[in-house]
Amino acid sequence: MQKAAPECERMAEDCHNFFAPPAIRFSRIPRDHVPDHVNDSTHMTDIPSRKPLEAPSLPADNPMRGFVPHQQLLSCIHCGLCTSSCPTYLETGNENDSPRGRIHLMRGVEEGRIELTATVRGHLDLCLDCRSCETACPSGVKYGQLIETFRVSDREKQTQAGKPAATWFEKLVLHELFPNRHRLERLLWPAWLMQQLGLDWLIEKTGLLRLLPLPLQRMQRMLPRLRKNEPNLPREIRHLGPVRRARVGLFLGCVSDAMFRHVHWATVRVLQHAGCDVLVPDRQQCCGAIEFHSGQRSAATERAKRNLSAFAEFQLDAILVNVAGCGAMLKEYSHLAPCEETDASLHARLQQFAGKVQDINEFLAGLNPGPLQPLPLRVVYQDACHLRHAQQIEREPRHLLRHIPELELLDIPEANICCGAAGSYNLQQPEMSDQLGERKIQWILSRGPEVIATANAGCALQLQALLKQRGLKIPVVHPVELLDASQRGLNREQFLRETG
Ligand code: SF4
Ligand code: SF4
Repeated sequence: MQKAAPECERMAEDCHNFFAPPAIRFSRIPRDHVPDHVNDSTHMTDIPSRKPLEAPSLPADNPMRGFVPHQQLLSCIHCGLCTSSCPTYLETGNENDSPRGRIHLMRGVEEGRIELTATVRGHLDLCLDCRSCETACPSGVKYGQLIETFRVSDREKQTQAGKPAATWFEKLVLHELFPNRHRLERLLWPAWLMQQLGLDWLIEKTGLLRLLPLPLQRMQRMLPRLRKNEPNLPREIRHLGPVRRARVGLFLGCVSDAMFRHVHWATVRVLQHAGCDVLVPDRQQCCGAIEFHSGQRSAATERAKRNLSAFAEFQLDAILVNVAGCGAMLKEYSHLAPCEETDASLHARLQQFAGKVQDINEFLAGLNPGPLQPLPLRVVYQDACHLRHAQQIEREPRHLLRHIPELELLDIPEANICCGAAGSYNLQQPEMSDQLGERKIQWILSRGPEVIATANAGCALQLQALLKQRGLKIPVVHPVELLDASQRGLNREQFLRETG
């Protein structure tokens, strides 16, 4: 872990000493001593929010000015109620790796009191953007917007200063490969073949894998057992039963379509049974989250415009997403082009599009999905941060799973803490990602599940990699796959065989 620079350490310590309760001051919090309120934020609703302070005027010649809207930084009242919900703070115990510390650093940079050194950037880059702190915050601080705006502005300022905008890995893998589902699918085919022939195992055992750059080695290790991909979804799928209850669009995503198309098929079957027509626009694109979160706002905005146009062809009641990360991005499309920085019509169209987006769990919970057959399995549901925190969807998937007769839903401690996947974080911050992954999988395995359910492709990949390391064959599925199996009347053995 990087050591804090003297200036940011001093600033953070001033803040910490003033506000933090002595028990958590700069000490790593042991896993079995996490305060109760980590898993219970309900008590925080009793705390009245304070009126934000007036923004002081910033010196006009401050080169750091304009990183984030200053008024938003001031909405943090430094109470520290978010710190015990922050995965990086739980792991390091360093105030600079907490939401409050990071807000303090961003504000210091914005006000020209703290230089944006590599160390300061290191603390900010270590943030997963999981937004657990937003759920915990009684003052309604929009932390996600703060860190995302900061990263975008930092990247733009670096580009203006003639510094390289992205590393080779970001350019080739994150910007060229991942957002292109057809390209990714073509690349996964030889990987699938290698797995079938056992060559992936041979490459690992002979040490050939070590010839690859580290991020590519990690990608290979994280690759789950690939299924032969299902056929593409047709453009239109009609409802089953006499009455059509809704006409919905399905968002495919990029990695999710290339690696988890079976989840799209399960989603479509469940929607058909629930009386929905499903439209699948073929011109749709990646949501742009990978680019936006690595500071490439204009590239992400271009993708958003193409998605607007692809879905505008159809009259839809809702646009449904079964990947939490994509759903969070689509619901916040209007942040890509804030009204003060763009033409009003684009902003309004982005807002209108975002208003139609719903997560599949959210949509189905409000629409009885139809008769379900018993499926006696012990299931741990793992919350994806971009569902629980970014979209505030926590009860809906649990509600749906509890409706499956004989399915036993198991709770885990620290359900609100990130598993370390966080989009491309597990490739860019491997050390912290591994620590958080270990933390999560230990809690999950302590409940002895037969199946793990999660509603995000990134979490599924992270958990599958952790299980693979341990030689465990526990299926990691989307909740909609359990609903689909129950609707189809699969028994427990059939389900485990199909998903194993
Ligand atoms: S982000 Fe919210 S919870 Fe955290 S210190 Fe600021 S006001 Fe308190
Ligand atoms: S987004 Fe997550 S990792 Fe970042 S400060 Fe908030 S809780 Fe911590």
